[in-house]
Amino acid sequence: MSLRDALQPDTLDQAIRIRRALHSIPELGYKELKTSAMVVECLQALGVDEIQTGIGGTGVVGLLHGIKGTGTRRYVGLRAELDGLELTEQTGLAWQSQNSGCMHACGHDGHMAILLATARELSANREFSGTVCCIFQPAEEGGAGAKAMIEDGLLERFPLSSIYAIHNAPWLPIGKIAINSGAVMAAADRIEISVLGAGGHGGIPHQTRDPIVATANIISMLQNVVSRYVDPAEAAVISIGGIHGGSPLKGSMIPDRVDCVGTVRTYCTDVQSTIEKKIHDIVDHVCDAHDLTGLVTYKKLYPATINHADRAALVASVADGLLDQCDILSNVRPSMAGEDFSFFLQKVPGAYCLIGQGTESAASLHSPSYDFDDRNIERAALLLKRIALSELAST
Ligand SMILES: [Zn+2]
Ligand SMILES: [Zn+2]
Repeated sequence: MSLRDALQPDTLDQAIRIRRALHSIPELGYKELKTSAMVVECLQALGVDEIQTGIGGTGVVGLLHGIKGTGTRRYVGLRAELDGLELTEQTGLAWQSQNSGCMHACGHDGHMAILLATARELSANREFSGTVCCIFQPAEEGGAGAKAMIEDGLLERFPLSSIYAIHNAPWLPIGKIAINSGAVMAAADRIEISVLGAGGHGGIPHQTRDPIVATANIISMLQNVVSRYVDPAEAAVISIGGIHGGSPLKGSMIPDRVDCVGTVRTYCTDVQSTIEKKIHDIVDHVCDAHDLTGLVTYKKLYPATINHADRAALVASVADGLLDQCDILSNVRPSMAGEDFSFFLQKVPGAYCLIGQGTESAASLHSPSYDFDDRNIERAALLLKRIALSELAST
C-alpha cells in the first residue's frame, strides 16, 4: 500500500481532527444544521471562492475557481454526504456520538473530511482551469437528498460536466480502490401490500374472508418471480421485511386485513418493470381467487447507480498514477444496497468508486460498532484531487 503522492502533512492532521469532530455530532437527514455549519466553517478557513448553502434543504456547495484557461468555464462536481443514521453508537471511542440515538455508521463523516482535504489541496494550488464544486448533500440515507438538490436547481446553478463520489467499503481490503465501468449499486424500491377481507371466528372460517391464508399464498408465490420471470444472468431480489395481521394473543380470531412491506432490488429497468408487473398480477389474482381485495403500492426510491464507462476509465487511469496496480480493482461484484448518487448519474456523466475499509476487524456499514478508518483519508483525497485536475485539464 504505497502512494506516489502525498497530502500536505497539516492537511491530513486537520482532516482527521475534522472527521472526528463531525463524527461526534451526527444528525439525521435534512436536520444536518450543526454539520453543515461546520462544513461551511471549514470551507471558509481553507479559502474557497464562494459558498452556497440551503440547497435542497441543508445542502452546501463550495466553489474553487482555477486560474488557468479562458472561454467557457467547465465545472466538475465532487460529492460527500452530510447525514448520519438513527442508531445508538457502541464503539466507546473518544470521538463517539454525542447525539443520543444518532450515529455516523456509514462513514459520511469520513467522506466529508476527504472532500474538505481535497478542497484544501486544490485551494492551495489553483493551477487548473474551470471550477471544482464541492457538494455536501443532505439525507443520503433514505431521504433522497441528491434528488432534492437537483430539484432545487443545483445543476442549473452549476452546469456540471461530470460528477464523482467515493464511498468506503468494509467488505474490501483496506486501501484498495474499486471502480466499475457499469453497475455499482442496485435500484432500491419499496413495496406495500394490503389484503382486505372479512374477519371472524377462526373455528368458523367459511363465514369469513381470510386475508391470512391469502397473504401466505402471495408471499410464497413472490418467491417464484425472480426464479421464473427474470433472466438467470440478471440479478434481482424480492424480500418481504414485515407482516402485520391479527394479534399474537388471539389465535381464534381471523382479522379483517393483513399488511406487508418489502423491498425489490434490481440493476436493469426491464427487470424492475417485470417484477413490478408480476407483483401486481400475483396480488390481484390470488385475492380474486379468495374473494378478497388486494392493494399494491410500488415505490421507486433510488434508481440503480450505473457508472459512465468513460468517467470510470478516467478514475482508473488517475488511480493508476497514484496507486500500485494491485490496489486498483475493476468490475467488482455490484452491491444490492442503494445509493442516491444514482440521481446525479442520471443527469450528469460520472462515476462512484469504493475504497476498502478492511475485511478483518472492520464492522459492517450501519453497525453500531462501525467507525470510519482514517487511514483512507489520504489516498481518497489524493484520488479526488487527481480526478478533478484530470477533468479540468481537458478544458
Ligand atoms: Zn448508509
Ligand atoms: Zn453511505
